Amino acid sequence: MSKQEQYRRAMDKYEHHVVYRNIGTVVACVIVVLQAVCIAKLSWSSATLAWIPLFILAFVLADFVNGIIHMVMDNTDDYTSIVGPLVAAFHRHHHIPRYRDRPALVVFFAENGMKNWLAVYMVVLVATMSHLPAAVAFTLLAFSLLSSTAELSHYFSHNSTNRLVHALQQARILLHPDHHWVHHKADNTHYSFLNGMTNPLVNFIAKRAYPRGYVTTTNAHSSPYYQGKS
Ligand SMILES: [Zn+2]
Ligand SMILES: [Zn+2]
Repeated sequence: MSKQEQYRRAMDKYEHHVVYRNIGTVVACVIVVLQAVCIAKLSWSSATLAWIPLFILAFVLADFVNGIIHMVMDNTDDYTSIVGPLVAAFHRHHHIPRYRDRPALVVFFAENGMKNWLAVYMVVLVATMSHLPAAVAFTLLAFSLLSSTAELSHYFSHNSTNRLVHALQQARILLHPDHHWVHHKADNTHYSFLNGMTNPLVNFIAKRAYPRGYVTTTNAHSSPYYQGKS
């Protein structure tokens, strides 16, 4: 069976099978509820000024790790496994880059739905948090919250006309639309999407890990499915 047909069948499952239709909401709920639990459990009275550089470390790590996961997902072409429908759905964004306009809080919640790895991460963090030094727990929680924020930053880079968001994009605190657009116009580049600061390193890794890129591989598998849909 061709990759194009495998992709079409995977998307058919994603859009019609009860598990794949609802797993995103379940995953988003797990992440957000466990993030709230961690915020409530964290020993904020232990906070010191040293937590500021730890927050910056979490910011850099969130940009890098989410960029690497994006790189792996964009280049994965196994559409027939149990996670195949989720892989296929991940590739939709390259064909329909603009999101449906929704309030920022709804986006912050809903876009967690594709982050299955973050749900597992949060279960482990909640289970181990009471054994960790407060500064470590803070850094790991900040990483999680910033990973969720990365999805919102990506949404803003495609959809937002808000002036505050624009100012944060100009300051390169959030993902600048021009910077991110390179990912959509070129091949195998600019995967990071919190603010994109780690893209030089992720680009270096991508060139070696996926020399074929996504334009002639996964994009070509999925493009027939979207003809006439964008
Ligand atoms: Zn991509
Ligand atoms: Zn995008």
